[in-house]
Amino acid sequence: MTTPTLRIAHLYADEMNIYGDRGNILTLTKRAEWRGITVEIRAVGRGPGADLSDANLIFWGGGQDSDQELVFKDAAAHKVTAIRRAIERGAVVLAVCGGYQLLGESYVTAEGKKLPGLALVDLHTIPGVKRNIGNIVIETSDLGLTPKTLVGFENHSGKTYLGPGLRPLGRVLRGAGNNGEDQTEGVADRNVFGTYLHGSLLPKNPHFADLLIERALGPRAIGRLVPLVDIEEMQAHQSVSERVLGRPASTRS
Ligand code: GLN
Repeated sequence: MTTPTLRIAHLYADEMNIYGDRGNILTLTKRAEWRGITVEIRAVGRGPGADLSDANLIFWGGGQDSDQELVFKDAAAHKVTAIRRAIERGAVVLAVCGGYQLLGESYVTAEGKKLPGLALVDLHTIPGVKRNIGNIVIETSDLGLTPKTLVGFENHSGKTYLGPGLRPLGRVLRGAGNNGEDQTEGVADRNVFGTYLHGSLLPKNPHFADLLIERALGPRAIGRLVPLVDIEEMQAHQSVSERVLGRPASTRS
């Protein structure tokens, strides 16, 4: 088997990177390299000519409303076709908060400005009256993760609603999630994952990072990844879980 390459496209790395979202790229890189997988990272900024033809993982971080206003036109003009093609080929997308909101049909800012989204996923976001800020714990259902929980930190005023038939990334155990009303958090649609979880997300959720790497490389390239010793990473996960839920996450599948 030839050594696979993880090709990460980092969308709007300069414009949208709050709460250390770049840490997700570092986690993916290190966890792949520790398995002998070569990693290539391409920052994809504003302007024409985005080449995502060989990307197998696309990451889009969070941003304030002003950052989202800066990029949404560019995304619709220069990125959407390339992202859609990548998704159709099975590439993984991880979009956090502001990036997640712009994957949908529309995002209405706190000031009431409607930004058309990329309409890659059937969801939309409207402003809420309060900001949801704090630690969040969710429980995934059918991703096969052990533990099933994901922990993170959310900070958003947008309220996101999923279209019919779309599965959330998980069920909120504590926190607001998509809208603070229906207990859903994020979206898991084919290989497209959207979430409000910053933290950054992946350092404290190494099991989810590995799922993304496995799906990005595909079963024929990699099979299951060799397990790593994740003592510190899972201590970080458990400490958020204990603080927020008052109990550690169950490590039984
Ligand atoms: N501006 C968006 C909101 O407040 C997203 C914020 C973020 O990415 N943290 O809902």
